[in-house]
This record gives sequence, C-alpha cells and structure tokens, in this order.
Amino acid sequence: MLREFRVDLHVHTGLSPCASEEMSPPGIVRQATARGVDILAVTDHNSAANALAVMTAGRRTGLTVVPGMELQTREDVHLLCLFESFDAALEWQEEIYRRLPARENREDVFGPQWLYDDEGRVVGKLARLLSTAAAISLEEAVEGVGSRSGVAIPAHIDRPGYGLLGQLGFVPPGLGVKACEVSRQADLQAVRARSPGLQTMELVCFSDAHQLSDIGDSRTTLWLAAPTLGEIEKSLEGSAGRRVAGR
Ligand SMILES: [Zn+2]
Ligand SMILES: [Zn+2]
Repeated sequence: MLREFRVDLHVHTGLSPCASEEMSPPGIVRQATARGVDILAVTDHNSAANALAVMTAGRRTGLTVVPGMELQTREDVHLLCLFESFDAALEWQEEIYRRLPARENREDVFGPQWLYDDEGRVVGKLARLLSTAAAISLEEAVEGVGSRSGVAIPAHIDRPGYGLLGQLGFVPPGLGVKACEVSRQADLQAVRARSPGLQTMELVCFSDAHQLSDIGDSRTTLWLAAPTLGEIEKSLEGSAGRRVAGR
C-alpha cells in the first residue's frame, strides 16, 4: 500500500565545516522526528563519515536515514549523492577522497570538521580538506552514483553559488538525473524556463540544514510503498504509482 512520506534529503552534520556543532546524530534525529520528517539523508560536503552514526541513531526512533554526501564537482556544482547502504556510500567516499586534493583542512578559514558517534559524542575531527572541488565532472559523478545503484540530485540549482544553473547556465542534455533540488522560495515556472532540460524534470525541496532549527523547514512529500531509496527513485521517475505529492 502506498502512503505519504515526508522527506528531507539534504542535511549536514557538524562534519561540514560550515555547519553548527549542534548537528550531532541524536540532535538531528530528535529534531527531524519532532518536525514530522519520515526520511532524512545525511549529505556532508564530499564525505559520508558521519552517515553511519546518524543511521544508527535513527534506527532507535524509526526515522529512516539515507547515507550520502553533497559532492562538489570539478565545475563547482553541488550534487546530492544518495545510496541504499552505508557500504555503497563508503565506496563512493573512497572514490571522491582519491579525487580531492590531499590537503589538510584549514580550521581557522573553514571551521572544524567534527566526527561523532551515534550517541552524539565527539570522537574526533576529520583532518583532510573537504571544502573544495573534487576532480570529477558532473556527468562522471552522476554516472558513478548510478552505477552504485545510488540516486544523484543536483542541489539548489537556482542558487547562484554552487548551483547547476548558476555554474553551467543549463542542464547538460542527457545528464540522466531524475530530479533537481530548488530552494523553497523558487518560482518553479521561472526555474523551468531557464533550461529545456528542466521542462519535465521533477523539482524537489529540501532543507540544506546547517543548524538544528533548519531541519524539515523545507521538504518534499512522496508517495511510496516503503521508506527505501529504491522507492524514492521510483517516485522521482513517477513509476508504479509512486510520485512526488507536494513540496
Ligand atoms: Zn550546497
Ligand atoms: Zn548543502
């Protein structure tokens, strides 16, 4: 039986240097549950290192947590990369780490990159620099995520900084994504008019939360049979009765 699921597939933890330290696994899970979110994705910049801790914290409450990352491609386009399992996310993380410059994070410039356990205790800091582009093109990234049975969604495409339209000006033909994220205030008709590739594209909204109060602020309702990434993908395709029900 299909039912409504409220999904927020763009949430940062304190690992993202620009996010608040309060973005710990239990903090995120508590806030998401309180805001009525059913499925949440962990999408830190270029890393999935805190995803397992949030998944474990989520399991205690019934919140479904999808592991992922917000990749910064060579073109400085932000791309949400979502995976069915933590192992697949980890494999993707290794691929991306190989393509990031081997430099240390400059905490004084970018901020700290906190690592937590599932109880919210700080267990360390990630030393490598995450706030930069990986040497991978947008096309190659979408293909790589797909080959790992993941789902790729260009993030905040209408925002001038790091959004697909701001960086490239259009959706490359044949890109192979099923949906794009737009900001909550976006005029959907105006966004669609900006590129032929957007005319029939599913447009979704998520919070891009960097602090607890942002979580669930902006989300999308999907009709699914179960809270899985496979079901989410079907809803973005509009197949087998699954669909995007509202923003
Ligand atoms: Zn972003
Ligand atoms: Zn983000």
